[in-house]
Amino acid sequence: MSGSRLRPADPGQQRTLRQAALCYAAQGWPVVPAAFFDGTRYACVQADCVQDGPHPVWRLWQGRASSDPDVVASWYRLFSFAVALPTGAVFDVVELPEPAAVRVQGALVEHGTPTPIAVWRERGVRLFWVNPGLPADDRLTAMNARIRGEGGWVPAPPTPTRRGPMHWALPPEQAEWGILAHEDLAKALDAVS
Ligand SMILES: [Zn+2]
Repeated sequence: MSGSRLRPADPGQQRTLRQAALCYAAQGWPVVPAAFFDGTRYACVQADCVQDGPHPVWRLWQGRASSDPDVVASWYRLFSFAVALPTGAVFDVVELPEPAAVRVQGALVEHGTPTPIAVWRERGVRLFWVNPGLPADDRLTAMNARIRGEGGWVPAPPTPTRRGPMHWALPPEQAEWGILAHEDLAKALDAVS
């Protein structure tokens, strides 16, 4: 029975997750394998794990995140892992509840300052990629936003969840893999306040 903990997904899904992980790594975004939702539960490598949601497969993952394509490929060759991205180094991520997230996204597009934005339906939030070191902000607090910075991580598309896969509302390619400057986030927050 123990061998069934990390059941392979369908090969297409496994390939899609591996390609996404390698694509992030190629852009210099370190990757961590994450628990894979198999339609029933979040399967990871810890036998006693009870976490019900996406999470890195190792408890001590921070020293193991990598953007080395060979390392990343080796993780995804055998197992169906989802994709987590550490925050606080290359980028912070602002988690904004809908529908405020939609307004902020609209303001960013209108101002010509796009940034990668992912939809996490399971939580009812969108994730905004922002330059690291984002300070606390009253406007974000008022929107019940959460800043994921140093020591944190986020699930990345197309990580499967109970409410369907994570997906991009604004794909990184559309932002030319750029990350939002703090002052451009401030301008968008001004526009929607
Ligand atoms: Zn786990």
